[in-house]
Amino acid sequence: MLITYKIELKPTNQQAWLIDQQISGSRWAYNLFLDINRQRYECGYHYMNAYEFSKWFNHDYLAANPDDQWIKELYAKSVKQAFIDADTAMKRFFKKLSGYPHWRSFKRGQGSYYFVKNSQQQIIACERHRIKLPKLGWVRLKEYGYIPTDAEHFVIKQGRVKFKAGRYYLTCVIEQADPIQLTLVNDPIGIDLGLKNLAILSNGLVYGNQNKSSRLKKIRKQLRRLQRKLSRQYCALKARKQKEGRSATDLNLAKTQLKVQRLYQRLTNIQIDYQNKLIAIVVRTKPLWVALEDLNVSGMMKNRHLAKAIAQQGFYNFRVRLIAKCQQLGIPVHLTERFEPTSKLCHNCGTKKVSLKLSERTYHCPNCHYTNDRDLNAALNIRDTKNFVLAY
Ligand SMILES: [Zn+2]
Repeated sequence: MLITYKIELKPTNQQAWLIDQQISGSRWAYNLFLDINRQRYECGYHYMNAYEFSKWFNHDYLAANPDDQWIKELYAKSVKQAFIDADTAMKRFFKKLSGYPHWRSFKRGQGSYYFVKNSQQQIIACERHRIKLPKLGWVRLKEYGYIPTDAEHFVIKQGRVKFKAGRYYLTCVIEQADPIQLTLVNDPIGIDLGLKNLAILSNGLVYGNQNKSSRLKKIRKQLRRLQRKLSRQYCALKARKQKEGRSATDLNLAKTQLKVQRLYQRLTNIQIDYQNKLIAIVVRTKPLWVALEDLNVSGMMKNRHLAKAIAQQGFYNFRVRLIAKCQQLGIPVHLTERFEPTSKLCHNCGTKKVSLKLSERTYHCPNCHYTNDRDLNAALNIRDTKNFVLAY
């Protein structure tokens, strides 16, 4: 089984400089691939795939452009992977799976330094606190013991180093033995996602909306202020450029930009952590199955009064992560059909209460006088419904 680990690196200044070099090199290679193929298309030549391109690049292009010889200094596998990535992006475009690929930009923190286990014998060495990467040597990790170091049972196959919001991250794919199948014995769990609370579980657990916490409100306020500052700096720069050209204040703008990026990253980190904790609670009970609503998030986003609140909840990411975790552990995930009236049905007798209003927080059944919390009733219905599809 292949599992991806993500961890922050603590490179020395020298190493950071080298990583930057590798990343910008592969970014350049990616953009070159797109550029050349577009030019070829305009002149009526056939499309070059990554393999052909790499051959042409090494023989013809570098001979004709001696100024670009510096790319030879970089780790060759990483450069080649950039061609493959660009090739994949173009092929997705040809199949109409996605739009025309954008250039990789420094500003968006794109591009990565790729490394791979080349042969059977080679081992990418990793210890509790450090990992050995090509061209860099031993690089320190920020979290000790997270990446398994037993090289016999945990084989590091490949990985990437990325730079995001002022930090270096390593992701690596590790081949390891399948985890022992859990014996699932306990009650299944239905999850009702919402805005007031992030999730209500059918066992009665209420998991609040963290966006309402003062901690997140404070960060969002900070962010709004910084973005105002950034936009002011942009305007000022634009006005000045027309007069005299570049000035030292460009650097101040970059500083603000980094601060904004770091705050965004912090918000994401808090959200991921919060959701992971909920997933851990769900999974740890070893339920027979987990049931989720198949929410139509993009449809809900059309309501402009709620769009922001919905976007901040991150339902889609939560679902992706929950499904991935359950798949890893072998827990089935039921996705309730989209138009199943889960909140209107009575969980006790199955009557559909058409007149249910949004403002009614407790569900009271006119038929059998069953009374329960509205969301809990919905969670129970999601758990027990027969109209579902399996998520994987
Ligand atoms: Zn009833």
